[in-house]
Amino acid sequence: MTMTATCRIKVDMGKCSGLGLCEAEAPDHFEIGDDGQLTVLSFDVSERDRADVEQAVRACPTQAISIEE
Ligand code: SF4
Repeated sequence: MTMTATCRIKVDMGKCSGLGLCEAEAPDHFEIGDDGQLTVLSFDVSERDRADVEQAVRACPTQAISIEE
């Protein structure tokens, strides 16, 4: 299976407060564990997921997420 990544996710873990708003917007990419730790499931973002990830960037209250072209 080939997937063309259009951009990559960057997370500043020092800023992340584990609230999980990113998971609500883009669950294919972000997951909050029971311990409140964020795991990025996939850093590469496909064209199809891009809008969801952009929503997650906007939803993050601490500006911990950014997108790298
Ligand atoms: S929305 Fe931001 S602060 Fe909250 S878990 Fe996601 S990256 Fe961390």
